[in-house]
Amino acid sequence: MNIILASGNKGKIKEFKAYMDGNVLSYADVMEPFEIVEDGKTFKENALIKARAVYEKLDNEAIVIADDSGISVDIFDGEPGIYSARYAGVDATSEQNLNKLICKLKEKNLKITPAFYTAAIALVCKKGEFCVHGWMYGNIIDEKRGKNGFGYDPIFMPLGYDKTLGELGDEVKKKLSHRSSALELAKIILKTI
Ligand code: IMP
Repeated sequence: MNIILASGNKGKIKEFKAYMDGNVLSYADVMEPFEIVEDGKTFKENALIKARAVYEKLDNEAIVIADDSGISVDIFDGEPGIYSARYAGVDATSEQNLNKLICKLKEKNLKITPAFYTAAIALVCKKGEFCVHGWMYGNIIDEKRGKNGFGYDPIFMPLGYDKTLGELGDEVKKKLSHRSSALELAKIILKTI
């Protein structure tokens, strides 16, 4: 059975397909994309909002999965956190969000500082609603390095590495990422439903 991913984010879709051996379709492949208002206060609430919104438009047999994720910077009290996709404004591009975070580091004369990614993955199906989390810890730096990944990856160095995810590439990210840790847990739920 195909699992429907409630996301239009190309970076996330690519990772979900790779982490789930292709056994996932973007919701945009099965319906007209529509706006989902993410007004939750946590990653978990927003992941459930997205999964429910898509599930409601599908038949009872569907399994919908959604990811709400973001980067939190300790020195900025966890910012941008759940606002990672709209850090530089509601319609901001990934590039603008990334540039804003780099500017904030430069304002504080920080070359490197601790940060972490969070992913909440929600599953909605006829058996009910589930949500699991994964994290990846590391540091962010004040310049972009590498072209791999998406979003904030060109400035994020996982713990134990002196290269960014932009430089390290997809296989390393797959081993370490917040999204793959959460998906390992989601796969256990998927096996039992
Ligand atoms: P969402 O689609 O509302 O969950 O927003 C997620 C945002 O968090 C993305 O647009 C990125 O800015 C950021 N983000 C989440 N996961 C990653 C990742 O794995 N790499 C880089 N940025 C990420």
